[in-house]
Amino acid sequence: MAKRTRIQDLFTAEVDSQYVAMGWVRTFRNNQFIALNDGSCLANLQVVVDFENTDPALLKRITTGAALRIEGTLIASQGKGQTVELIAGNIDILGDCDAETFPLQPKKHSLEFLREIAHLRFRTNTFGAVFRIRHALAFAVHEFFHNRHFVYIHTPIITGSDAEGAGEMFQVTTLDLHNVPKTDEGAINYKKDFFGKPTNLTVSGQLEGELAALALSDIYTFGPTFRAENSNTSRHLAEFWMIEPEVAFADLDDNMDLAEDMLKYLISYVLKHCSEDLAFLEQRLLDEEKQKPQQERSEMTLREKLNFCIENPFERLTYTEAIDILRNSTPNKKGKFQYPVEKWGTDLQSEHERYLVEKHFKKPVILTNYPKEIKAFYMRMDDDGKTVRAMDVLFPGIGEIIGGSQREERYDVLLSRMEEMHIPAEEMSWFLDTRRFGSVPHAGFGLGFERLVLFVTGMTNIRDVIPFPRFPGNAEF
Ligand code: ATP
Ligand code: MN
Repeated sequence: MAKRTRIQDLFTAEVDSQYVAMGWVRTFRNNQFIALNDGSCLANLQVVVDFENTDPALLKRITTGAALRIEGTLIASQGKGQTVELIAGNIDILGDCDAETFPLQPKKHSLEFLREIAHLRFRTNTFGAVFRIRHALAFAVHEFFHNRHFVYIHTPIITGSDAEGAGEMFQVTTLDLHNVPKTDEGAINYKKDFFGKPTNLTVSGQLEGELAALALSDIYTFGPTFRAENSNTSRHLAEFWMIEPEVAFADLDDNMDLAEDMLKYLISYVLKHCSEDLAFLEQRLLDEEKQKPQQERSEMTLREKLNFCIENPFERLTYTEAIDILRNSTPNKKGKFQYPVEKWGTDLQSEHERYLVEKHFKKPVILTNYPKEIKAFYMRMDDDGKTVRAMDVLFPGIGEIIGGSQREERYDVLLSRMEEMHIPAEEMSWFLDTRRFGSVPHAGFGLGFERLVLFVTGMTNIRDVIPFPRFPGNAEF
């Protein structure tokens, strides 16, 4: 049996030779032309069937969705729209597909409908393109850090520390919920639980990442993270993937440089390696935007937007400067913000972040030096005692894509911050140890992988850039 050639490779293969293609039927026109797709690329292979000399019973089984093995001769195409076509010699049905009940018809389906059949949506052009790009981005993440000699660290998914503080957690337990063991005082007896103590799914690998960075200098994590927050938005998932570099001997400026370099590298990688899929998604976006009123359409196409991000330096400013801009902005004065900006110290909402990025600066923005009250305990205190060395990277259409900081490396300051924020120091002794045994300035950040995929693909809902999204009320598949 001759070996299968991927359809992507057939487009550049030598013509007038014999090949075997395998894939799924997208359409079958006039009993003669099969559009065959194997997911190796967006484009379908046109297969030409000699219907006069083919068994009619076999022809009947060539339906949308059926899986085929086709052996034939590749020729330069006579028709328009493709460079090569395969003249079928032998056709085998690998898997029949009942056209009556197959939910994917050769027409446009809504993203909402496709979300309900997430087990089949891989078979569509849109999701094929999204998941090939997702792969390319994941690969580029490793390439970027590997080139810079970072060590990839696998931090735990089940965590015994409840002080990460980044969000609500999912508890992990093997206790029988119908018969929970109790202590004499009537509390839950966690000594009887699997780990002998309460455990959760991690919300971030940062704290463990810091331990590694304070020995290996440059590390990153790239793994699943979980947040049990009830945010039913187009930017939040209950299970998502996060990339978290942590760098010793680095300050906030180094951190900003790393974040900006990384984002530009990842976007460039996709522009360079995924042009067919990007062109398709760009057109999809244009078609979608035609439904919107003129003033809501974006001024740039998808690839223009991506190129713009690479070519321009990100705008860097402090939280305090941003508050001034927002306070004096037209939407604020006209009461257009859902959350009006008045006082210094309030947290920024997505609408504020997007105003800064999309209307005011019209490019990616890095905000720094936030009030300590609205940021985590481990961020390094500024000399004014009011702000910390935090940074958020804000992107058009997304809002926050990265959150990070220079870390508080001074033992005494860190300890008093923990006391202020009621974080039990005894349980965090392992973390505090790093500040006792050779502490150094260090910094890091977290990039939400799906938010990046969202930006690069031009999709609008984060549930459409992860194969099987988890969100409140949904853990299907
Ligand atoms: P947001 O304010 O948008 O809810 P956050 O401040 O809680 O995010 P961080 O704790 O700073 O987020 O996490 C770092 C990054 O992880 C964020 O910048 C974002 O890209 C991503 N992220 C955070 N929460 C989610 C989520 N629920 N779903 C998908 N990505 C997320
Ligand atoms: Mn954040």
